[in-house]
Amino acid sequence: MILVINSGSSSIKFKLYKKEPSQDNQTVLEGIAERITLDGILTIKYKDNRTTWNMDFQNHESAVKGILSKFQDLGVIKTIDEIVAIGFRIVNGGSITEPTIINDKVYKAIFDSIEFAPLHNPGALVAIDAFKKITPNAILVGNFDNAFHHTIPKSNFLYPLPIEWYKKYNVRKFGFHGLSYQYIVEKFAELAKENKENLNLVICHLGSGSSMACIQNGLSLDTTMGFTPLGGLMMGTRSGNIDPSILEFITKKLSMTISEVTEMLNKKSGLLGMSEISADMRDLILASAKGNDNAKLAVNKYEQTVADNIVTFVNRLPYVDAIIFTAGIGENSPENRQGIIDKIKILNVNLDQTANNEKNDSFKLISANSSAIPVYVIRTDEESMIYQNTLSFLK
Ligand code: ADP
Repeated sequence: MILVINSGSSSIKFKLYKKEPSQDNQTVLEGIAERITLDGILTIKYKDNRTTWNMDFQNHESAVKGILSKFQDLGVIKTIDEIVAIGFRIVNGGSITEPTIINDKVYKAIFDSIEFAPLHNPGALVAIDAFKKITPNAILVGNFDNAFHHTIPKSNFLYPLPIEWYKKYNVRKFGFHGLSYQYIVEKFAELAKENKENLNLVICHLGSGSSMACIQNGLSLDTTMGFTPLGGLMMGTRSGNIDPSILEFITKKLSMTISEVTEMLNKKSGLLGMSEISADMRDLILASAKGNDNAKLAVNKYEQTVADNIVTFVNRLPYVDAIIFTAGIGENSPENRQGIIDKIKILNVNLDQTANNEKNDSFKLISANSSAIPVYVIRTDEESMIYQNTLSFLK
């Protein structure tokens, strides 16, 4: 079997897949180990049952042991050696451009990239350490969120800053959500029966963390997220792009450190900061319907930012095969999709209201026949992308 791991500082999300892809669903089970170091809660969804256990997770290693022993209790595996490969999601792998076996060199690259993903990479490394010890015979594969964006040309990944900062310290746009973009490009190619090398797409990955990608000939030409996942679009709690002078100004006004204000840009801004209600789009749609002005302001600003970036990305491409919505908001919110498309005045893009409002399946055309560019909703599946990438190392 193949295990897919998305590990943070206090939680490990996991999904177990069959080794041989079959006609039926390859997923065996999924779950999450939470509150690592505090106490420990383990939840596993297996055969339509969701079970939760109180655990004692002193560290990631004890959480991994707890997860694997539950797999054995459930009868899913007899011995740990049945897990032949483990695919890890890693936010920033520096200059690594594709999924890679985690050898010492790759481990060091992830370690060296901590300063570019301080909230994410350390959690991945402790999980890798734990699996190295507990499953010594399994192949460990790194899947990097920034790798898909390695094709972005210099003119797009450089910031208008002293070039020395790039040369000495690698200050540049890395881009994230790459596993989602890789999945969407491959899925669209498969379902539209097109070669991905021919596809030009604008993909809107709109979740709690939101970004967009401009795809030319199947490859990333540009993306909105930047040096860290704080940049680009406005998000659930993150500001996205702002005037950088605000940082120093507020640091002085609130007598805070730069780290404290940066934390506010990450955790107290975006939809939450503007609305003072919630980071969750569903709450804001409800509050807007009840006439709450702050909620309306936040939702409008979010939609406007996405709409503006769609126009920017369409402008970069010679032609566009599709605009695609994905992730929590993109997949589930006809209100936001309509709000975004309504704010694009120049492109003659319009939605078929019935298709847009129908319950979402995994792949759906939602634009009207008259639309200058077709608009689709595609359900993303980053875990399945990691699974497929990891599987390729067993062949
Ligand atoms: P992440 O993976 O970045 O944590 P998700 O892709 O799960 O985020 O997206 C979470 C977001 O999707 C939340 O803002 C949530 O409110 C929003 N969302 C989920 N379902 C709906 C819905 N039916 N309508 C509007 N927003 C939704």
